[in-house]
Amino acid sequence: MNHKIKVHNPATDEVIGEIQALDVGEGVKAIERAKKAQAKWGQKSLGQRIKVLQRFKKALMEKADEFSRAISTENGKPLMESMITEVLPTVDITDYFCSKAPGILAKKPIAMRMMKYRKSYIHYKPRGVVYIISPWNFPFVIPTGEVVMALIAGNAVIQKPASLTPMIALKARDLMVENGLDPDLFQVLPMKGEHAFKLIGSGVDYVNFTGSVATGEKVSAECGKHLIPCTMELGGKDAAIVCEDVSIDHAAKYLVWGAFANAGQVCASVERVYVHEKIYNQFVDKVVSIVKELKIGDPFADGVSIGPMKDPHQLKIVQQHVENARENGATVLTGGYKIDGPGQFYAPTILVDVDEDMECVKEETFGPTMPIMKYSDIDDAVQRANDSPFGLNAYVFTADRYRGQRIAEKLQAGTVMVNAALMTYGLPETPWGGVKKSGVGRVHGDDGLRDLCIPSHVNYDLPFEISWNPFLYPYSHRKYKAFLNSLKAFWGQGFSDKLSGIRGLFK
Ligand code: ADP
Repeated sequence: MNHKIKVHNPATDEVIGEIQALDVGEGVKAIERAKKAQAKWGQKSLGQRIKVLQRFKKALMEKADEFSRAISTENGKPLMESMITEVLPTVDITDYFCSKAPGILAKKPIAMRMMKYRKSYIHYKPRGVVYIISPWNFPFVIPTGEVVMALIAGNAVIQKPASLTPMIALKARDLMVENGLDPDLFQVLPMKGEHAFKLIGSGVDYVNFTGSVATGEKVSAECGKHLIPCTMELGGKDAAIVCEDVSIDHAAKYLVWGAFANAGQVCASVERVYVHEKIYNQFVDKVVSIVKELKIGDPFADGVSIGPMKDPHQLKIVQQHVENARENGATVLTGGYKIDGPGQFYAPTILVDVDEDMECVKEETFGPTMPIMKYSDIDDAVQRANDSPFGLNAYVFTADRYRGQRIAEKLQAGTVMVNAALMTYGLPETPWGGVKKSGVGRVHGDDGLRDLCIPSHVNYDLPFEISWNPFLYPYSHRKYKAFLNSLKAFWGQGFSDKLSGIRGLFK
């Protein structure tokens, strides 16, 4: 039975839209339409495809304010964040792949080793229908960046938006269609998660999932069952290490932003901070003073830095983690409470006297909290940072950037930033993804675009292709012996080994 999805403004709790949910049958039909559209789109030249996406980019830039406002209304993040973390990176991702795709997807010759009398190259074919299942915390940039890349690569796209934020996804799709995209080529299907699950085995060719670990495990198992390649972008419990030589002002500014941007609802959020004991007190004082100055409230009001949380269920998890910390002896230096309604606001919270047994340090909080811990030995800090089932991003702060790189290389994470935080998803030229429970595969970067294609290998002959080839029939002992000697002649270790092989060949 179809239902309507009620969409709320998390700053006011008002209903801002009612979106018709689709059922599995409608989803299957959408995939069939997408397949037909892809057959035509995939035949177009890369240049023709890029032109359509360039029109989308131009239109998005003209409507940047309208889109930022729509994102803030539906998701609750401050208007400034809708601009810098959603609209701007979407423009940049589109711009990057429109200009770089011809190089990234150009035929790649491969130098032959053994068969020098032949040649090889890789060409990149579209996968077909790319299925994007997307979250509510970045409801515009996460899916739209992937949509743009998949389309440029010649695919059709089926997008299942998060049920908390379907409106901005539909708006993005409308803008693409208004700018010349075949409506069947990119379809947005608001529907229940359990219905979306059934579409995995219904004709899609690739799955790009961003969301929780629990759902990611289910979705990737289903992809395995149908042998569909997938990328999983899951949770994080990103650690920051602050060394004793650091500029406290610099580290504190970045880490407060890293922990509280988007009210902490970022998979790459700073979720735990390890500070050297020598500067611990000064660092904590600095961080608390910055956080106390942050304005929380209406995402559209001037000067507001922190908006509401989008998901009331997630807000309950934040409350639970803070209560668990309090019960186990943590001290709340600021925040630690839900602000009375309307709206789903939680005060930015600094926690000290915490340890690795507490939920706020062990589990993903995905909200506006920053637990701070002390360390005395850098190897111990690295070991504690790595002692997590997650590994999305990590952060290191030190005055010595080479020391920062050495520490970064020891951290188990898909991306480590030295002396900065949070900004790497918005770098389309770099790969994004995690290790351990944070996910499988990488999006963005040149390989991210190639991953949306089938790397197809062609091996071909040269004008002087030899018609006599020793690999072919008839077999004989003489040929066998020649191969034994060839092994030594070509792959032998050292001169004497090779020489004995060559001698054997001419015996
Ligand atoms: P969260 O809602 O905390 O972001 P989820 O992993 O539940 O994390 O959701 C991420 C996306 O996956 C959303 O679009 C959601 O609707 C969708 N989803 C939820 N359950 C399933 C499922 N069983 N199969 C496929 N998609 C799902």
